[in-house]
Amino acid sequence: MNLMQTALVYLKGVGPERARLLKEELQLRTYQDLLHFFPNRYIDRSRFYQINKLPQNNAEIQIKGQITSVTYIQQKRGKRMIASFEDETGSIELVWFQGHKWIRDQLKINEAYIIFGRLNWFKGKVSMPHPELELERNFQKNLEISFYPIYPSSEKLINKGLSQKVTQKMVFQLLNLQTTPFSETLPSVLLNQYKLIPKDTAIRQIHFPANQQLLTRAQMRLKFEEFFYMQIQLLLKNQQRKQKIKGHNFKKVGKNFNDFFRHHLSFELTNSQKKVIKEIRIDLGTGRQMNRILQGDVGSGKTVVALLIMLIALDNDFQACLVAPTEILTQQHYQSLAEQLKKLNISVALLTGSSTKKERQVIHNGLKSGELNILIGTHAIFEDTVQFKRLGLAIIDEQHRFGVAQRAKLWRKNEVPPHVLVMTATPIPRTLAMSLYGDLDLSVINELPPGRKKIKTLHRNDSNRLKVFTFIKKQIALGRQVYIVYPLIQESSKLDYKDLMDGFESLSRSFPIPKYQISIIHGQMKSEDKTYEMERFVKGETQIMVATTVIEVGVNVPNASAIIIESAERFGLSQLHQLRGRVGRGADQSYCILMTGSKLSREAQTRMETMTRSDDGFEIAEVDLKLRGPGNIMGTQQSGILQFKIADLIKDQSILKAAREGALRILKQDSSLKDSDHQCIKRTLSELKFDSNIWNFIS
Ligand code: ADP
Ligand code: MG
Repeated sequence: MNLMQTALVYLKGVGPERARLLKEELQLRTYQDLLHFFPNRYIDRSRFYQINKLPQNNAEIQIKGQITSVTYIQQKRGKRMIASFEDETGSIELVWFQGHKWIRDQLKINEAYIIFGRLNWFKGKVSMPHPELELERNFQKNLEISFYPIYPSSEKLINKGLSQKVTQKMVFQLLNLQTTPFSETLPSVLLNQYKLIPKDTAIRQIHFPANQQLLTRAQMRLKFEEFFYMQIQLLLKNQQRKQKIKGHNFKKVGKNFNDFFRHHLSFELTNSQKKVIKEIRIDLGTGRQMNRILQGDVGSGKTVVALLIMLIALDNDFQACLVAPTEILTQQHYQSLAEQLKKLNISVALLTGSSTKKERQVIHNGLKSGELNILIGTHAIFEDTVQFKRLGLAIIDEQHRFGVAQRAKLWRKNEVPPHVLVMTATPIPRTLAMSLYGDLDLSVINELPPGRKKIKTLHRNDSNRLKVFTFIKKQIALGRQVYIVYPLIQESSKLDYKDLMDGFESLSRSFPIPKYQISIIHGQMKSEDKTYEMERFVKGETQIMVATTVIEVGVNVPNASAIIIESAERFGLSQLHQLRGRVGRGADQSYCILMTGSKLSREAQTRMETMTRSDDGFEIAEVDLKLRGPGNIMGTQQSGILQFKIADLIKDQSILKAAREGALRILKQDSSLKDSDHQCIKRTLSELKFDSNIWNFIS
């Protein structure tokens, strides 16, 4: 057996108790795990501070000196042990709250020590709680190590005596146990091309760096490796899927598509739209299942792409379905598609949670007989009772609202799975998309239809409210419509609900009937009431739509030219961007007004500034990623896929890009990894304990 697969309990100085702690606190089980347990920072061991020149912050530092006395102070909660530590320039107190006896027994008075720890400043006085101590004569012996690695730790570990020094010793021993070089995990072609240092050097240097330069190169090499193996796994998965999963072959583009394209499309497609339709058409004709994600900013025109692709399915005698996350959105899709397809003699139906039993029966029959061509609906479509005669294509709009498990369910409906196109306006940062969707094919619409004016975004606070109302009146006088959005973050929150209702009442006073008509939509309303209110707004019967975030995704009312977002500081960036996307859909100048209180946190301030500065969904998403970290984006935290040991999705984007390129190139040349230079990849892949969660999440 590989030495590195040995359980940590067998490492000298570990034993059962420590092995258990390492497993519980740090998920370290084997030698291999410990080897890949990387320091998160380093202390320069050649640098010492003098006590009269200590930094005025809580830095971690080293001091040379000696202990001159030890005293105890009785406190409310037990005793505190204090040692006075002196160098030739002054003195500092070392403090222990626990473990006095054991430590006291080892302390030597008036002998030269090196101490290391975090300073604690309190009312102009400095102390160092629970320092690490080493006699200077021992320290000298270990001086070939010039950087002191600091490993991630926990309070529990420290209290149980697993100090940095102990961890450091364990790793040191482990490195010495391995007498031959650690096997290389990257092919030489990549090492050469990206000037990466060998695995053996990297592993040894990351723990005990000889100098800063080698440390940097070790970090670079290990980050590359981590990204590389993530990418190669995703790409291999994609490759396998393409080989294995048969798909319907849509051989032709026929009457439906051509007819619609030539006679009923009321605008010219943008180049981006044409490009993605072409990409999708190619996929549909390969005889393998398409699994593609279509990314396009709000208002970029994804719906018409969906429509055209569905027509191709119909041209090949298949049925298609379009799934969206909210009833409002499905209704809107239904109305607009039914309207557009009337002339083509295509039958379209709508299925949602509030469809009646009778309606369902008609739909079920139509689907089974094949008379029904296109089904639009919410996740009700995924129910087992819904059976298609020949489902060839499933389009999922605004994907982030759906569990991917539901996507998978759809596949099981037929023997040969339908092609799947997932559309999303959530501008997933490129870097994240690369990691999350590495195994899906990606199409991007990166331009807006022509003639759109940039939405003017303003940040105002409550003292400007009257002016904002005057502005709304002006817009309405021009024949435009206005959204006013309230946060209802949790549908159950009474306070949020009250804000919404108070807001509605105050608006009703400032915008009295009959001159003004106001619609209201929120989550506690019945579905048919929502539909009714939405319809009044769409038809232009009401000028103001007061709503919660139910209108966040997809809703399309081109005549609406302004959106006022109340308590905007409570929304996340991507949500604000989505909301803003409700306006600017026609040719008129549109506005987005972010209303906040006057006191904002730094982060909220950044969000407001980003929104007023930028209308680029991708740029906004990158800022969001920086503010919140990848774990908070789209429920990725369950996926585990974004947890790296050393790489950082935000800071190391250029390395990720290089690693992905490298992985792509290798698989392009040698898709089954037969080349002798690629054997190390095969071996490493089989060694990697592969987290099956990744696949649950993605496909
Ligand atoms: P999203 O990508 O956010 O789903 P939609 O598909 O709702 O965007 O499109 C937004 C608006 O742009 C719709 O009113 C649609 O009719 C219009 N549209 C789409 N493509 C074009 C185009 N090529 N030229 C002009 N208008 C377009
Ligand atoms: Mg849409």
